Amino acid sequence: MPRNENWTEAQPIVALHDVHKSFGTFEVLKGIDIEVMKGEVVCIIGPSGSGKSTLIRTINGLTPVSKGSVKVEGIEVHDAKLDKLALRRKVGIVFQQYNLFPHRTVLENVMMAPLLVLKENRSEVEARARTLLEKVKLRDKEDAYPAELSGGQQQRVAIARSLCMRPDVMLFDEVTAALDPETVKEVLMTIKDLATDGMTCMLVTHEMGFAREISDRVYFTDAGRIVESGPPAQIFDAPQDPRTQEFLSKVL
Ligand code: ADP
Ligand code: MG
Repeated sequence: MPRNENWTEAQPIVALHDVHKSFGTFEVLKGIDIEVMKGEVVCIIGPSGSGKSTLIRTINGLTPVSKGSVKVEGIEVHDAKLDKLALRRKVGIVFQQYNLFPHRTVLENVMMAPLLVLKENRSEVEARARTLLEKVKLRDKEDAYPAELSGGQQQRVAIARSLCMRPDVMLFDEVTAALDPETVKEVLMTIKDLATDGMTCMLVTHEMGFAREISDRVYFTDAGRIVESGPPAQIFDAPQDPRTQEFLSKVL
């Protein structure tokens, strides 16, 4: 992605303005406004089907918008002329399904995108991959194959793989939803460490305790709209909108 000389850290690193998205005649996003500053951690909560995944996917260009603007570091993501590859390098995304390459080792999985997509120098990528595996506490598993790891370990490899592209923003879409309960915590700890290190993070999560602990701000979505947003203490202890109150009464 071209550097935007006009963007400074005093401006949002991610900015969605009046984002609409329809699939056919079904409007999934009905005017979303979100601004995230560099280093902030933002959680998006809300009922299933409210548009959370669609919203997250507009930020790295995976889902085109029908109307509105999505900017990363001041650059319009949905500009047809934008280099999508460069955008996906800048904005990492991790999903519920980790989709590691089964016939590649952990280390090879982490190295693959920078080597094959960005054509970076192998020894530099390898050094970085090892540092990242250390960070996600899997340095001793670098020669293992994905099937030899637990779900939580595989998800940590997926996070390291995404980080190996050196993103400026990380998106997490329900990354613990498919994991055994005993491995959820280690993945949440990994994300917490990243956030503590200053990574800008946007998370869709059903882990309300974690959202409360980690977020600078929480957005509650329902039926394609942001119903309410604020600091976690406000959203969780004193939600204003009846839809937020009802959702939280079911999940807390
Ligand atoms: P959430 O992540 O909050 O559960 P999603 O963003 O996945 O919500 O989906 C919101 C709505 O959009 C759902 O009703 C879903 O069926 C619909 N939807 C999502 N992706 C598509 C698609 N590619 N085509 C048609 N409908 C879709
Ligand atoms: Mg979803």
